[in-house]
Amino acid sequence: MATATAPTAAKHARAKPRVVDQKMLIGGKWVNSASGKTFATTDPTDGSVICNIAEGDKADIDLAVRAAREAFENGPWARMNASERGRLLNKLADAVEEHKEELAALESLDNGKPLNDAMGADLPLSIACYRYYAGWADKIFGQTIPINGPFFTYTRHEPIGVVGQIIPWNFPLLMQAWKWGPALACGNTLVLKPAEQTPLTALRVAQLAQEVGFPDGVINVVPGYGPTAGAALSGHMDVDKIAFTGETGTGKIVMTAAAQSNLKRVSLELGGKSPNIVFADADLDAAVEGAYFGLFFNQGQCCCAGSRLFVQDSVYDAFVAKIVEKAKGRKVGDPFASDTEQGPQS
Ligand code: NAD
Repeated sequence: MATATAPTAAKHARAKPRVVDQKMLIGGKWVNSASGKTFATTDPTDGSVICNIAEGDKADIDLAVRAAREAFENGPWARMNASERGRLLNKLADAVEEHKEELAALESLDNGKPLNDAMGADLPLSIACYRYYAGWADKIFGQTIPINGPFFTYTRHEPIGVVGQIIPWNFPLLMQAWKWGPALACGNTLVLKPAEQTPLTALRVAQLAQEVGFPDGVINVVPGYGPTAGAALSGHMDVDKIAFTGETGTGKIVMTAAAQSNLKRVSLELGGKSPNIVFADADLDAAVEGAYFGLFFNQGQCCCAGSRLFVQDSVYDAFVAKIVEKAKGRKVGDPFASDTEQGPQS
């Protein structure tokens, strides 16, 4: 994740929220899966079941894609002014902001990240992302092109159509915002498959999107597993684009499915390993702070985690001593405790 910032929010300590069993959102309706199957989402702190979630598979993806296609071709979304789309995205940002305590608690419950991190990073970054793309909605336009001859030549930017989106568990709310913001600002409709480990916040934000007025079928959320629901989405013949964030190996599978079905467009955000380099003339204390944050933020579960460190020989021993000392002081524990710096490792 390129935009990780140190959590700066005040300490948050709250009780774990209670969550009821969840359905999926297709065509503006909250429905059970076609098969009737559910799967449990668990609390990574102790492995207990939080609730059961409707389990999407190919039949549900088919229904969701059909709903998204109908909304794209014939619904009010298709005729809506771009500025109105921007207004809806801003309203969604407002709604997420109004519910930030609740959403942060859900994120911590489902993912295990400290509530301080969810409140200090995931929520503000997600809200900012929706607002950023809200601003783009009515500022996307083509060009006129001077060419020889009596011709008027121009380009026009149009939505792609139905966009499938598959996201991972490490930053569920933020990955959802990164996918929804641009797709909706540009006038697409979408089917999101959240990670099977962390479906709760995606479903809650979908409810908020309904409440602020996104038309039925524009946003569809189908929870489920990768090889079933995810594969059905990336290989679907009526999905125009697939946007994926996750592991490199899964990205290859998604790209292959896209190519072998309808050659749909693909965007992939995959894993990476990002070394930090410390030279002898660095401010060693500042370098320790930066390297420590780079490695440990979000339990180290970041695509750009600083999981390798190159330190110049002459300061190596001093640097290692300082950072080991700092790491030993890290407080691992209950994500809902106000002094926890690191929750369970997912
Ligand atoms: P993953 O690839 O296992 O899962 C990600 C998503 O893909 C999940 O929703 C999963 O259900 C789905 N999936 C799994 N198999 C699938 C299949 N066959 N077809 C379609 N979908 C399938 O990744 P993960 O380990 O859960 O997620 C963490 C990864 O995401 C890390 O590697 C991290 O570096 C990466 N990541 C990258 C960025 C970025 O911006 N580049 C951001 C966040 C996370």
